Amino acid sequence: MKCKICPMHCELSIEEDKMDNSYIITGNKCPQGEKHALNEIKEPSRVLFSRVLIDKAPMSRLHVKTDGIVPSYFKEKFINLIEKTRVEAPIAKGEVIIENILSTGINVVSARRVNEI
Ligand code: SF4
Repeated sequence: MKCKICPMHCELSIEEDKMDNSYIITGNKCPQGEKHALNEIKEPSRVLFSRVLIDKAPMSRLHVKTDGIVPSYFKEKFINLIEKTRVEAPIAKGEVIIENILSTGINVVSARRVNEI
């Protein structure tokens, strides 16, 4: 698997050490790669769904999702930032709500259209 933490994209290998009941990570050029690989074993990367605050709309929260796969390492940081974000209706489905979140190249987009009230 490729490490997704930084643009180096190191190719990581994961081997299970059955004698020791642990994992041996190789190919990483820094400690973050090992952490990322272990996180991927426990909780794989996926598209992240969350909600932002919305004003001038029939509801107080707008469902959003990432337009790319989020490494589990970033999940909590993304959610903390997304949940504090506030937007105003009208919003189009697929509209970018947070561009290039935390400089990862991933955008957070609206999961639905919301008209202004
Ligand atoms: S292992 Fe370290 S250097 Fe390699 S991609 Fe991951 S974060 Fe970057």
